[in-house]
Amino acid sequence: MTKYAMTIDLNKCVGCRACVIACKAEWGLDDDKSRCWVTPVGPEVTEDGMTSTFYTGLCNHCDSPSCIDECPTSATYKKADGTVAVDKELCIGCGNCVLACPYGARYTSGHDKKVDKCSFCDTRVAGGLLPACVVTCPTEARLFGDIEDQQSSIYKQVFNHDAYPLASKKFNLGPNVYYVGQEKDIKLLLKRHLPSAQRVSETNLAWRNLKPMISGSLGLTSLGVISAFLGQLFLGEEDEHE
Ligand code: SF4
Ligand code: SF4
Repeated sequence: MTKYAMTIDLNKCVGCRACVIACKAEWGLDDDKSRCWVTPVGPEVTEDGMTSTFYTGLCNHCDSPSCIDECPTSATYKKADGTVAVDKELCIGCGNCVLACPYGARYTSGHDKKVDKCSFCDTRVAGGLLPACVVTCPTEARLFGDIEDQQSSIYKQVFNHDAYPLASKKFNLGPNVYYVGQEKDIKLLLKRHLPSAQRVSETNLAWRNLKPMISGSLGLTSLGVISAFLGQLFLGEEDEHE
């Protein structure tokens, strides 16, 4: 069974953001929206000396994603290859999943008022290509592949070396993006960007109560009729990384 994952080598990433530009171009995204991001971390004095690195982030395609739990229409779902996807036909743009993702990996598109995020470039991968960010990175900091394949480079990098997801014992959704590099850089990244709790607002909790009614009692036709109304109510979620 295939399970896609990505590693990002902090020793190689130079923070050029070529990956972000490639992603925007690949998916025709608005200038102010992005499926991935690169932000500086530090410089900071640590117990291992002064260090700085980059938070090169994207959707982690988590094993137990909080975004799926909070979607009232099941528009967000897990595919057989382990990736987490959004069905735009079912998305009503309520923004629940945007709030539920502790990584800030989702945003509401200005084009269609539906939620968007990294898909691990699913259409490219289906055609035998690598994700746009991976092929564009000038330093080859990104590695993508099937982590269930013991012969794959990504399997060897994650399981034969030290690779760390943005997760802790207290809070672990099972991210499938891993970071490798010097210990001091990894420690600083984890210190600054470990998710600590689900950001589920009162609005989300109210929607969670409505989910069974929406997904169980209403047919898709009815859902389509009310989606415009619901979408209008919940417009305005912004990507925190922009
Ligand atoms: Fe880092 Fe590569 Fe992205 Fe440049 S393109 S910011 S080196 S991951
Ligand atoms: Fe969902 Fe966020 Fe995990 Fe991506 S990173 S699967 S959007 S919880």
